[in-house]
Amino acid sequence: MMVVFIGPPGAGKGTQCRRLVDLLRIPHLSTGEMLRAVMREESALSRWLASYIDAGKLAPDHLVMRIVAQKLQSDECKPGALFDGFPRTIVQAQLLDDYLMEHHRPLDVALNLQVDEEILVERLLKRAQIDGRADDNYETIRERLKVFRTQTSPLIDYYSKQGKLESIDGAQSEDQVFEDIQSIVMRLQQRA
Ligand code: AMP
Repeated sequence: MMVVFIGPPGAGKGTQCRRLVDLLRIPHLSTGEMLRAVMREESALSRWLASYIDAGKLAPDHLVMRIVAQKLQSDECKPGALFDGFPRTIVQAQLLDDYLMEHHRPLDVALNLQVDEEILVERLLKRAQIDGRADDNYETIRERLKVFRTQTSPLIDYYSKQGKLESIDGAQSEDQVFEDIQSIVMRLQQRA
């Protein structure tokens, strides 16, 4: 199964993806994690990437797609993949569609986790105290939310037009959100 997760930072994509991975037995592809792994290396590329990510901006589309495509070619992605935080722009969504079409593995669903901004800011500031991520400070959080609004939220319309969008209220409890996701996935599996 090929699943995309859309949602602003702090919507719970990572948490729900980890639970869904256990259920579907497909790998969790978090582009944020992949980019942070590149940034941990000491290289010109990592310093260049940090200039985007630490400022709350998006990394360049083609670079992200290249990293994702490398992963998709691995054997572990044969049963499918769960994309967390990817695509984040219309260009990335088109690149992903082209890749999946070329490999005859169409996307099954785009899960859209919806949460109000005040709740997101609160959650992200709390996460900053626990994880100490460089991009979880108030200013960068505001920038990342703006980036979501301007660059990522058009994907909601993009996938809706493809008939692949499923929206979930991400402000509910973690368990309730997961129940909603599970019923969507089960419905899709029954249809397949
Ligand atoms: P995340 O861990 O998903 O919150 O991502 C952290 C940061 O990594 C984002 O704020 C972006 O700077 C960068 N990033 C993650 N995924 C993407 C993507 N698909 N396209 C561009 N930049 C990304």
